[in-house]
Amino acid sequence: AKAQGRGRHEVFDATMHASTIALLQLENDLRRAVQRQEFQVYYQPIIALDTGRIAGFEALVRWHHPERGFVSPSEFITTTEETGLIIPLGAWVLRQACLQLQQWQTEFATYPPLTMSVNISSTQLSHPDFSEQVSQILQEVALEPGSLKLEITESVLMENADAAASLLEQLRAQTIHLCIDDFGTGYSSLSYLQRFPINMLKVDKSFVTNLGVDEESSEIVRAIISLGNNLGMYVTAEGVETEEQLVQLWALHCDYGQGYLFSKPLKSEDARALLEASPQW
Ligand code: C2E
Ligand code: CA
Ligand code: CA
Ligand code: CA
Repeated sequence: AKAQGRGRHEVFDATMHASTIALLQLENDLRRAVQRQEFQVYYQPIIALDTGRIAGFEALVRWHHPERGFVSPSEFITTTEETGLIIPLGAWVLRQACLQLQQWQTEFATYPPLTMSVNISSTQLSHPDFSEQVSQILQEVALEPGSLKLEITESVLMENADAAASLLEQLRAQTIHLCIDDFGTGYSSLSYLQRFPINMLKVDKSFVTNLGVDEESSEIVRAIISLGNNLGMYVTAEGVETEEQLVQLWALHCDYGQGYLFSKPLKSEDARALLEASPQW
């Protein structure tokens, strides 16, 4: 039993060692990737459910690793946050997405104008110059601040609520829109909805997936929509994959939908083609 215990311990050490090396390798690769611009921004349409029109896009970063090929953001965003690399990467994504939206707004001049949603991590948000950086990018790119939506998760707000509140006030003062991402999955209290100037809730995919499958999910989505609407916020359902879910969302008067049913995240030129093919433009 003792030998076995020691064996397990050694295996554990070896695994730790391997994962430490893998992490260092990943950090190294990410540093190089930021320098060599191995990243690309993809765009997933967000649909206004009452008209069926494209209301805007969410910018989602993609990494094309020279040897490993496509690497999912779920595999590297955490590491970029821990190493601080999210600061240059996040600024690059934000500038790229704003530039792209400005181009589309010009090419597909329409009313109301298309919006762009960009994910912001806690590391970015706690950077003292964040609000300044955002307004600089908007000016450089000549984008209407009201077209930009920043997506943040509940945990980010709760980590440092006082600092977050004053930062979000600054961003709102610039007329930038603020969305709570993955709503309903955090541990926070609902009082922050009163405390922070939030414009939109994004219902987490896990609730949307079970719409029409179990009664509880439908009730949760219904509750989030009425909570949001009663507080003057818009509500977006993420991860919409089936007609059945769409029918349920219509019945619940959800404002926006996003998911594979409408479109996967697309390369810039494919998103542009989709806009061009949309009958309203
Ligand atoms: P998220 O912000 O919740 O983004 C939605 C994720 O769901 C995206 O995954 C998207 O491709 C995926 N998705 C959209 N519709 C569907 C659907 O119908 N079914 C399913 N199964 N999935 C769907 P992605 O692009 O892999 O991104 C994963 C996460 O990585 C994002 O989750 C976000 O938290 C983070 N992320 C992505 N890009 C950025 C970025 O530029 N900055 C930061 N800070 N985080 C990012
Ligand atoms: Ca998001
Ligand atoms: Ca989300
Ligand atoms: Ca999610």
